[in-house]
Amino acid sequence: MKIRDIIGAAALCIISGSVYAVPPANVRGVDLAAVLAAHDRVRQITHQPNEDARPLRAIRTIVLDPGHGGENQGALGVCDVHEKYLTLELAYELRARLQAEHPDARIILTRYWDHGLGLSERIELANKVNADLFISLHYNAATHPRALGFETYFLRANETIPGQEEVKGEMVASNGQVVGAPEDQVEQPVDPIVFMREDLLRQKQNEESGLLAEVVNSSLAGHLNSVNRGVKQANFGVLRGAKMPAVVMEAGFVSHPEEGHDVVSVEHRTALVDALHNAILEFDEKLTRKNNP
Ligand SMILES: [Zn+2]
Repeated sequence: MKIRDIIGAAALCIISGSVYAVPPANVRGVDLAAVLAAHDRVRQITHQPNEDARPLRAIRTIVLDPGHGGENQGALGVCDVHEKYLTLELAYELRARLQAEHPDARIILTRYWDHGLGLSERIELANKVNADLFISLHYNAATHPRALGFETYFLRANETIPGQEEVKGEMVASNGQVVGAPEDQVEQPVDPIVFMREDLLRQKQNEESGLLAEVVNSSLAGHLNSVNRGVKQANFGVLRGAKMPAVVMEAGFVSHPEEGHDVVSVEHRTALVDALHNAILEFDEKLTRKNNP
C-alpha cells in the first residue's frame, strides 16, 4: 500500500466519524493508530527549532475547514477558479506552516481532497477531536462586481444550539445523543442543572468565538491590502453546535475584477497564511492569560 493510500485511509477514518485519537486498529490491513503516532513522532524529530517561533500554550488541536468541496464548488471567480480549490490550497499551506512551527500541535483538515462534506459534519468532526479552535476558510462573491474586502463571522448567541434540520433523519437531544425516530420520541424532562451548565458553556464558547473573530479580522487588516468589512455575526450552519471558539473567514471577493485576480496569487495566499498564523498565536496568548490570571 502506498503512503498516499495510508494517509487517505487515515483521513477517511477521521471524516467518517471515528474518534481521531483512537482510530480503528485496522483499516485495509493498516494499523492507523501506529501510523498517526509515527507521523506525530517524525514531525517532532524532524522539527527544526526556530528561535523566533512562539510556542502554543493553550491550543493543542486546530481544525481548519476548507469551505465547499465536491459538487458544492463554492463561488466561481473572475479567473474561472472555483472557491473550493482556493480554500483547500489555503488550508494545506496554513497547515504546513503551523505544523512546521508547532510540532506538538495537531492540525486537522475537515477535508483533504475535493469531495463534498455536510456543514454539520465539519463541526461534528471538530467536536469529536476536542479541537481548541475551528476556522472555516472561505472566499466571497457578490452579484455586484465592485464588492471587495475581507470579513470574519461568528455565530449569533441565540443560534448556538444545533438546529434539527442540520441532522438528517435523526432527532438529536441537546446533549448530542440520538433519541430515536420522531414517532417513538417521548418527552424527557430537562434537568435544570444540566441545562444551566450547558448554557454557561455555550455562553463561554460564544464569547471566545467573538474574541477569536476580532483577533482574526484585525490580523487580516494588518496583512491584506484591501477593505476591512469587519467582524459580523450570522447564522452559519457550519458554526452551529461548535464546542470550541469557531469562526468563518471570508478572505476576499473572487467576483471583483481586481481582487478576483489577487486572491489566486501566491502572494495573497502567503499574506493570508501569515495573518492567520499570527491570529492563532495572539488568540493562544489571550486564552493562556485568561486561563492563568
Ligand atoms: Zn464559501
